[in-house]
Amino acid sequence: MIKRDLVIVGGGPAGLSAAKVALDAGMSVTLIERFNQLGGQLIKQTHKFFGSQLQYAKTRGFDIARILIDDLKGYDDQLEILLDATCVGFYPDKVLTVYQYGKYMKYLGGSVIIATGASEKVLAFENNDLPGIYGAGAIQTLMNIYGIKPGKEVVMVGSGNIGLIVSYQLIQAGVKVKALVEAASTIGGYLVHASKLKRLGVGFLMNTTVKKAIGKDHLEKVVTVKLDDRWQEIPGSESEIDADVLCISVGLSPLHQLLSMAGAHMLDVSELGGLVPKKTCDYETSIDHVYACGDVTGIEEASSAMVEGRICGLMAANHLGFKHPEAQSLEDDLNNQLCVLRQGPCGEKIRCGLKKVGEIYD
Ligand SMILES: Cc1cc2nc3c(=O)[nH]c(=O)nc-3n(C[C@H](O)[C@H](O)[C@H](O)COP(=O)(O)OP(=O)(O)OC[C@H]3O[C@@H](n4cnc5c(N)ncnc54)[C@H](O)[C@@H]3O)c2cc1C
Repeated sequence: MIKRDLVIVGGGPAGLSAAKVALDAGMSVTLIERFNQLGGQLIKQTHKFFGSQLQYAKTRGFDIARILIDDLKGYDDQLEILLDATCVGFYPDKVLTVYQYGKYMKYLGGSVIIATGASEKVLAFENNDLPGIYGAGAIQTLMNIYGIKPGKEVVMVGSGNIGLIVSYQLIQAGVKVKALVEAASTIGGYLVHASKLKRLGVGFLMNTTVKKAIGKDHLEKVVTVKLDDRWQEIPGSESEIDADVLCISVGLSPLHQLLSMAGAHMLDVSELGGLVPKKTCDYETSIDHVYACGDVTGIEEASSAMVEGRICGLMAANHLGFKHPEAQSLEDDLNNQLCVLRQGPCGEKIRCGLKKVGEIYD
């Protein structure tokens, strides 16, 4: 059994930010990441971020990842980073089972931070397993990490920010976006992204969903159908679109499985994307010294994941008696940053969800 002051599962913006603060407080840290690179979702994001300078606004996602990774340099005697390493088991005594290169290892954390992020939701329709049908994350990985175009003509499903941004990136890569299909009557993402697509000639099919996919060995056509105001299909409203790629971007669900396995108290909160841990305002779950931050606690943004990660690192250190040199001012500043990020109408859904899990927003 390998013992550390802190074990962090997930090397995205939340996990990386937590690691930096915990290291500054003097903790020994193991950071476990199942992919072969650190950065989480950020490494696929080629667009410049919105928001505040404090969370790297106007910087491209993959550059933010690089900054967060560089922040961990110089801690060689305190920090162990495991890549290609998947945490496959997590138990209430804070023991973790980690699988890497054909071997299983056991870790015991004085504290554990779960920062596993989220997984994509899928859509049920006839033939939804035809080659050519992807989640938006897979398309981003193909294009933005490996430089591979997924196809020639795409139908995008979902008008949230991810669907809008990935549509724009497809167009930049020379792929034709034939239509953007959205079941709701309003666009889910920021209008600035939607307007850009409209200016580029992308048609938005509102109150519409995918009924089936057609193709022999690969996707050839997408059949869409109109929905009424109770989201029921309107018979006779089907129409066919020729396409070799269908990109599904209908939301994310928190990757809660490790927390559920350890028996943390979980709540189903639709505003946060599904099952999330109940937590104190110190980000501690119902299991002592087990914390959670980022998308695993509710689907939000990298900006808030970074701030939450820093708070979690600070709390994990404080509660084990490690002193961060700027503990009090940092805590106040980070809590203030989160309030600013979540203010206004865009933050209403997340504020409402967080009230249900124990964080108070008035
Ligand atoms: C197309 C797109 C555009 C976006 N644009 C913006 C934007 O402009 N601004 C913004 O603020 N946010 C944006 N976001 C959202 C942002 O990327 C996420 O909210 C953020 O990455 C969440 O951070 P996280 O650390 O919680 O999770 P992630 O970034 O998902 O990182 C989680 C990490 O945990 C690892 N992991 C999971 N399970 C295990 C396990 N069992 N063992 C080991 N490792 C594990 C994963 O491999 C992953 O690397 C965008 C997202 C997408 C998809």
